[in-house]
Amino acid sequence: MTESRDSALAPASRITQPLVLANIPPSPGQGRIARAFLLALLVILLGTWPFAAIRLPEVDAFVPTLAAALFVSDCVTAALLFAQFSILRQWALLVIASGYLFSALIVIAHALTFPGAFTPTGVLGSGLQSAVWLYWFWHAGLPISIIGYALLKDTDRVADARVTRRAISLSVVGVFALVIGLFLFVTHFEHLLPILFVDVRPLSLFRRTIGGMVVLALGGIALWLLWPRQRSLLDQWLIVALCALLLEVALASVLSAGRYNLAWYAGRFYQLVTATVVMVVLLAEMTRLYASLARSNAMLQHERKRLQRAIDAQHRERDARLMTGDAVAATIAHEVKQPLAAMITRSETGLRWLDRAVPELHMARTEFMKIAADGHRAAAVIESIRANFRKDERVRASFDVDNLIEEAISLFEDDLKSHRILVKVERSARPQRVIGDRIQLQQVLLNLITNAIEAMITVDGPRELAVSSSLSDDGDVLISVADTGMGIAAQDLQRVFDPLFTTKSRGMGMGLSICRSIVQAHDGMLWVSPNAPRGSIFQFVLGAKTA
Ligand code: ADP
Repeated sequence: MTESRDSALAPASRITQPLVLANIPPSPGQGRIARAFLLALLVILLGTWPFAAIRLPEVDAFVPTLAAALFVSDCVTAALLFAQFSILRQWALLVIASGYLFSALIVIAHALTFPGAFTPTGVLGSGLQSAVWLYWFWHAGLPISIIGYALLKDTDRVADARVTRRAISLSVVGVFALVIGLFLFVTHFEHLLPILFVDVRPLSLFRRTIGGMVVLALGGIALWLLWPRQRSLLDQWLIVALCALLLEVALASVLSAGRYNLAWYAGRFYQLVTATVVMVVLLAEMTRLYASLARSNAMLQHERKRLQRAIDAQHRERDARLMTGDAVAATIAHEVKQPLAAMITRSETGLRWLDRAVPELHMARTEFMKIAADGHRAAAVIESIRANFRKDERVRASFDVDNLIEEAISLFEDDLKSHRILVKVERSARPQRVIGDRIQLQQVLLNLITNAIEAMITVDGPRELAVSSSLSDDGDVLISVADTGMGIAAQDLQRVFDPLFTTKSRGMGMGLSICRSIVQAHDGMLWVSPNAPRGSIFQFVLGAKTA
C-alpha cells in the first residue's frame, strides 16, 4: 500500500512544495497502521455478519446525534482539505474537500427526513423514501469525489494563487446548492422516485440492493483508480475511509436491509469511521508537522544564539585587542611625555649656558648629563611598559622607598621652583625597602607629583607638596602625595582612576589608571581623599609581601 518516502518525493515539483498531509508520503509504519485498521474493519464486518438481522432497541435520538457528529467531523475534514488546497493549489484537493462538505451537508438533510429522528415522519412529512434516496446520494458522494480526485491527481496543473479563494467559495456555494436541490427534490417529488426500501412490505431483491450496488460499483471504480495512484498519506487514508463506507453499504443494505438491527448500528459505526478517519490523520499529521517545525525553529534559535555569542566574543576580542593597542599607545605617550619635556627644557637651558659671552661649560655639561639621564629614564620607562603588558617579564628588585621619593622630587626640581611650590618630605625613622619594579613605582610617584603640580598651578594661594612614607602596623609601606591644589569633586573621586577620564584640555586620562594597575600588580592599593583645607591626598600601600 505504501511507496518509499524517497521515491514518492522524487518529482521535482513536489520537492519544492511545502510538506502537508496531501503530499507527504506515508512512512512504512504508517502504511502498516492503515493496513491493520482495514483488517480490523473487515474483522468487525465478518463478526457482525451472522447476527446482522438481530433487532436492537430503536433509539430515535441516535440518528440526529450521529448526524451531528458526522456533520462536525466532515466539516472539519472539508475545512482542513480546503486549507491544503489553498497551500498546494492542486485541483484534486478541491474536489475531495467539496466531497467531504457534500457529506457534511447531506447528512443533515438525511437526518431531517429520517422518520423518528426529528418528527415521526421526517420533516415536511417526507417519509422514509426521501431518507433512503438521500442516504444513497450521501454514500455516492465520497466515491464520486474520490474518482474525481484520483483522475485529477494525474494532471500537473496547479491553480493560480489568485483564483484559489474564489474556487473555494464557488465550491462551497455549489455544494450547498446541490444539497439543497437534492433535498427539495426528494422531499417534494418523492412520489416520482422508485421505492427502494420498505420496512413492512418485502421488496424484490433488485429494489433492495440496487442503491447499494450502485454505490459499491462507484466505490470499486474509486478504489481501482486511487489504488495505483496513491502516493501520499492522504491517499492512503482516503482508501481506508472509502473501504469503511463500502463495508457499511455492504453490511447495512446488501446483507441485511432494515433499520435498528445490528447490521444497521454497525453501519453507523462505519459511517463514523468514514467521517473521522481522514480528519484524525489530518490533525495528527498537522500536530506532528507543527511539532517538528517548532523543534527546528528552536534549533534555529539555538544556533542563531550560538552564532551571536560567537560573533559577540569575536567583537569583544577585537575590542580588547584595540583597547590594549590604545592603552599601550596612550601609556607610552603619557609616560614618555614627561622625560621628553624635561629633555627639551634641559637642552634649551644647556644651549643658553653655551650661548653666553663666556660659555659656562660646567653648567652646560650638568644639563647635558641630566639630558642623558632623562633619555635613559625614557628608555627604561618604555621597557617597563613593555614588561607590564608582557606580564611574565616583570623586573623585581629590592629598593629603598625614601630613596625613590627623593629621586622623583629631584626630577621636578626646576618645575617646583619655577611654580614656587614648597616641598615637604617626611620619611619614617628607619629605612623602608620594598620589592618590586623600581621604574614602574617611580612612574607612579612621577605621575602623582605631576598631577599635584598641575592641580596647584591653576589656583592661587599657598602651594605645598607633601610627600611622605610610613610603615603600617602590619608591615605595609604607605606612600602619600598631598597637594593644596583645586581638589577633586566628590563625584569624581572614583572616576579619576578610570582610563581616559580627564578634566584637562590636553590631558589623556591615562596616568592614574596606569598608576592603579602598577600598584595593584605590586599587591597594593591606590586611593585618593580630600586634603584639608584644600587639595587632594593620593596614597598607596605596597603589600606586606612586596615589602
Ligand atoms: P590626566 O592627568 O591626563 O588628566 P590622570 O589619570 O593622571 O590623567 O588624571 C585624571 C584626572 O584626575 C585629571 O584630569 C584630574 O581631573 C584629576 N586629578 C588627578 N590628580 C589630581 C590632583 N592632584 N588634584 C586634582 N585633580 C586631580
